[in-house]
Amino acid sequence: MLDSYAVIGNPIAHSKSPQIHTAFAQQTHQALQYGAILAPLDGFRNAVESFRQQGGKGLNVTVPFKLEAYQLATRLTERASIAQAVNTLKFENDEILGDNTDGAGLVRDIECNLGIPIADKRVLLMGAGGAAQGVILPLLQRHPSLLAIANRTPQKAQALQQQFITYGNIVSGDFMRFSGENFDLIINATSASLHDALPELPIDLFAHTTLAYDMMYSHEPTRFLQFAQKNGAHQIADGLGMLVEQAAESFFLWRGVRPQTKPVIAMLKS
Ligand code: NDP
Repeated sequence: MLDSYAVIGNPIAHSKSPQIHTAFAQQTHQALQYGAILAPLDGFRNAVESFRQQGGKGLNVTVPFKLEAYQLATRLTERASIAQAVNTLKFENDEILGDNTDGAGLVRDIECNLGIPIADKRVLLMGAGGAAQGVILPLLQRHPSLLAIANRTPQKAQALQQQFITYGNIVSGDFMRFSGENFDLIINATSASLHDALPELPIDLFAHTTLAYDMMYSHEPTRFLQFAQKNGAHQIADGLGMLVEQAAESFFLWRGVRPQTKPVIAMLKS
């Protein structure tokens, strides 16, 4: 029987993770199968348990379950422990290892694939959910001059500011608080684009922005990316590169083999 992996989330139909991991497996000659699981919003724990009982070896966890996955893990990598959010689970005997590869994937996509160094940049991170939480430390480790965290519910952004305050220069607030400020890099880590929605943003936010980045990926630019471009952002990018890079990190955790990402990004873009 092939080793079995899957991505779990709600919604899940849009996910490209099965395609990506199948391509990694072919490229590295690993014998495995990879599927997608739609878990009920109140049924994450049961869905994971049932997958484990059937012999599943690991899961990628996506919206909105990353915080629940953190609670479920019996052991955590250091980066998952600091992020307090988990996007990768590995099952070994009775142990559930939780890791977070989102931040490594995002940083690699921005710096290596898009060629934009984060050091000394003013960065605005929109959102305060599991995805945002997972990328804060890796972003701060690239030494931006400022990391602003903006969220619809500002209390959640403030809580993240407190959580990571010892790691760098962080401010927080709602979106309107940052009207009139300049940012080199603006990252949308809200789930608004998943629902074809646009957060209520100040129109002047993008005037000096080198890169507007949406973690969501889609064939057409998301409403956020269209808004950013129309209002001055020099370059826009969706989260396809991040998705492939974070998947490569998960694959490495599970299989001990690091796949090449560039051909898989190219395959998905075509
Ligand atoms: P969560 O459900 O944990 O968090 C959702 C966040 O989005 C909250 O901060 C919420 O604000 C905010 N939000 C939702 N709707 C709106 C709206 N209409 N306007 C403003 N803010 C809104 O989701 P995740 O953090 O797990 O995922 C966020 C996104 O990142 C998803 O689109 C996901 O697909 C994407 N992602 C992409 C990855 C990639 O590899 N490319 C990896 C990880 C995530 P509030 O607190 O006020 O409710």
